[in-house]
Amino acid sequence: MMIRLPIIAGNWKMNKTVGEAIDLVRKLKALISGIKEVEVVVAPPFTALYAVGKELNGSSIELSAQNLHWEQKGAYTGEISPLMLKDLGCKYVIIGHSERRQYFGENDEIVNLKIKSAIKNSLKPILCIGETLTEREEGKTFSVIKRQLEAGLKDIGDKEIREIVIAYEPVWAIGTGRTATPQQAQEVHKFIREKLEVLYSKDISQAIRIQYGGSVTPENIKGLMDREDIDGALVGGASLVAESFARIVRFKEI
Ligand code: PEP
Repeated sequence: MMIRLPIIAGNWKMNKTVGEAIDLVRKLKALISGIKEVEVVVAPPFTALYAVGKELNGSSIELSAQNLHWEQKGAYTGEISPLMLKDLGCKYVIIGHSERRQYFGENDEIVNLKIKSAIKNSLKPILCIGETLTEREEGKTFSVIKRQLEAGLKDIGDKEIREIVIAYEPVWAIGTGRTATPQQAQEVHKFIREKLEVLYSKDISQAIRIQYGGSVTPENIKGLMDREDIDGALVGGASLVAESFARIVRFKEI
């Protein structure tokens, strides 16, 4: 069985001023120093990326953005390009988060443009996919996941796919306090891995990390991480407090 390095990422969403972000990341550095067997990523808002990036110099915590525009530069008022994110030291970028799909009209085609642009510009995408409550109740979970995966990864070749992390985030579990059970999450993660095998190869599907996201807490992380195809977590609310995020990162000690 392939050993995949667990990846725990904190999505701070539209929270934290620069001062608050620095405070949070300093606390976090102290609480998780010495952690080696888990890759830790933080995704502050754009306005705090520079300051947080400076704080992370010399630490093993990686910097991520929460979004990007697919063009490198130009007349796109209010947008941020992949070049700008690289310039700030970002290694990762979250793409296709359900809040962007839901509130900002991001569809699978836009998500695909962003994925291709991120890779072209040497940023590693965290591709978010997941079904809504209605879709789950109507028995459409697997068809939605299949569609989002195929469309999001359109024209992504064997080499590029290895740069990607997939985040399975059931929309009904995000910010709701309602987590998918480890069993429910594992079922979809397994489906995603099988789909990756069909789209690419067994070797690639075994190498790609699939995070779970949706109301992850220090209390439920262990049960999720114990499952075969769950390789990490994308954490929203609980990543805003250093102590709770650090406990999630230290899930092996639970
Ligand atoms: C998220 O924003 O990706 C997320 C999973 O949020 P929360 O942990 O708050 O549900």
